[in-house]
Formats: sequence, structure tokens, C-alpha cells
Amino acid sequence: MAGRLVSETLTKLSQMGDVTLHEPAGDSPQSERARRTRKQEFNFSDCIANLQTPRGPKPVLKTMMTTACERNCHYCVFRAGRAKTKRVTFSPDEIASAFDTLESSGKVDGLFLSSGIIKGSVTTQDKIIEAADILRNKQRYRGYIHLKIMPGIEYDQLYRSMQLADRVSVNLEAPTSGRLAALAPKKIFVEELLRMLQWAQQIRQENRHEKLASSVTQFVVGAVGDTDLELLSLSDKLYSQAKLARVYYSAFSPVPGTPFENLPATEAIREFRLYQSSFLLRDYKWDVEEMPFLPDGNLRADVDPKQAWADEHLLRQPIEIMSAEREQLMRIPGVGPIGAKAIISARRRGTLSELLHLKQIGIRSPHKVAKYVLLNGRQPTRQLKLF
Ligand code: SF4
Repeated sequence: MAGRLVSETLTKLSQMGDVTLHEPAGDSPQSERARRTRKQEFNFSDCIANLQTPRGPKPVLKTMMTTACERNCHYCVFRAGRAKTKRVTFSPDEIASAFDTLESSGKVDGLFLSSGIIKGSVTTQDKIIEAADILRNKQRYRGYIHLKIMPGIEYDQLYRSMQLADRVSVNLEAPTSGRLAALAPKKIFVEELLRMLQWAQQIRQENRHEKLASSVTQFVVGAVGDTDLELLSLSDKLYSQAKLARVYYSAFSPVPGTPFENLPATEAIREFRLYQSSFLLRDYKWDVEEMPFLPDGNLRADVDPKQAWADEHLLRQPIEIMSAEREQLMRIPGVGPIGAKAIISARRRGTLSELLHLKQIGIRSPHKVAKYVLLNGRQPTRQLKLF
């Protein structure tokens, strides 16, 4: 009986294919999406993605409790009423049993579980929680679990989800309530989404002794006039106030049979520049006001934001490598946290006066650095003397 249940569930998983393609679950969202194909038939392996997780690289089962949904987000393949979408639903037992079989046979070591919304968010989240609860407490699975948080669930449901998972995602989709109304008319920005991320941080603060999930979010970029300034301003607040581990940016891609089917796709380079900028906010501690926005509130597509900032600020006032603070060094294109550390350590031992010296301590592209720095009071010659 149990064998038949698992076998039927695996068949249903195969029919679903890569349903969570647009929902990043790991730390390399762009490579996660690169597995997209145009084939008609799915097979079971489409549900498994090799992800960079907080616990290292792992084959993760990415799936949904149901591909049916009562909401009508304009960009979404699962929106209510879209005739072309095949609707498949699992019970918590089915998901847990199939996962257990796959994990025992070494095919997966991690679960990303999302869902469409049926009978409201609270009922749907209960099913997600039940599946994770079976895995953790009946099947004693201790590996990676990433759970999706439905909009507007109860505080206790969020807390329970965070106890069961390593990571939870609350997808904001848009940077303001006005933009969200244009994207997803039935979602409520503050009460249903932003509040979940604020609660998640409150839960971590109030229960410091417990091992609780980190939280992440995702934006759909470019469908409804959202600007990079709007997206990065909110990202900055989320990093500093809600302590998000990651913000994902998903370039809008039109889905046939949805109200947005005729809108142009957002170029991938915009998504890439947003990720670069987001890392400057999160890891380099830049202020959003420092980002080199154009007058229309967007970033230049043709240049890395760090380089655009340096061209504006450092060409006339280069940074002295021998005396600059760590944060200043990390402003130089081509110098990150590791490079800054190497410079600080090397200059204690001697003088860095040549580009070759930078190369020798591990700065990969001294030429890139050259025009923005002084080496012991002198602008370095661009010619790198390697021999
Ligand atoms: S609630 Fe989620 S699954 Fe449902 S239509 Fe909106 S984005 Fe799609």
C-alpha cells in the first residue's frame, strides 16, 4: 500500500516537472533557472535542482503542495482560471513519503516546498507545515528544508515553519503597495507580505536560544514600471531591519494565457545589475543613496555599479593603497573583502608601490585597479611588469 502511494506520488511529481523554476531556493538563482527547457514532456529529474544551500551544494527536490490556486497574480503560470496549467495536488503524507524514498535512495538531500493557495493561506500553510513536520519528527530527516510562506498566515504558523525549516521565503513580488496592486491584485502588501518578514525577525529575536530559519524574499522585476531605486531601497531596509539572508530578483518573463502575456520580457542584464547592487548593500555596507542611479531611478545596464561609482568618485580622488581603511579599499573595482584583507596584511610587512605587488598578493586584475588608486603616493603605471 505504502509502496503504491509513493509510486503514484513520484508519477505525479514527474507530471509536474520543474514547476518551481521561477522560485529560487538556493544561493545561485541564475544557474538554478538556467536548467529551463522547452520540451513538452517532463520527467522526474526536472523536479531536482543542484543548489548552493546554506549547508553546501545539494540535490534538492523542488516541488509544490498544489499547482491549483485561487488567487490571480497577473504574471503567474498557476493563477486561477489559466486553462493551460495542469493542476496537481499532493497530501502532506504523499510529499513526505516520496521525499523519504528519494532521500533514502540518495537522489535528493534537501526539500524546497512551495504551493498555490487553496481554501486560504492558513489552510495551505497548515499542509506545508504538516509535510515538514512528518519529515522532521516521524522520518527524522535532519537535512535542508526551505519552506514557502503563504501571504497573511498566522504568527504561530510562521513560528512553526521557522522551527521546521532552515530557510523560509515570503515573496514580496513588488517594492511598493501600488506596484503590487498592478502585479497581484489579491495580495496585500503590508498586512500579508511585509508583516511576515517583520514577524520572522521578531520571532528570531524573541527566541534566540532556538535554531530558527533564515528568511528571504523575491521580486518580479520590470513588469509594472518598478525602478531599481524602489527595489534596492526596500532591499536595503529588509537587510538592515528584517535581517534577510537574501533578496532574489526575477526578471519578468511573460507567460502565455495570463494578462501579462504581451508585455515585453525584462532583460537579464537588469537582474544581474540588481544582484551586484544588492551585494554592495548587504556585504559591502553601501547606502542605497550612494548607488549610481540614473535620473529615471534605474541603474546603467552597460556598467557594473561599483565601477560606475568609482568612475564618478575615484578618478579625480584615487584611494591611497598604503593607508586606506578596509571599507575604502573595498570601494575599488577589483578589490573585495578578501583583496582588502590581503592589502592590509601585506602593507604591514612592506610597501606596495607597484601593480606587480598587488598581483603577488592575489589581486586578480591590477589593471582594473590602477586608475583608481595611488601606490605609496604615486599613480601606478598601467603597464604591469610581470617579468
Ligand atoms: S498566489 Fe502564488 S501561485 Fe497563486 S497566482 Fe499568485 S504567485 Fe501564483
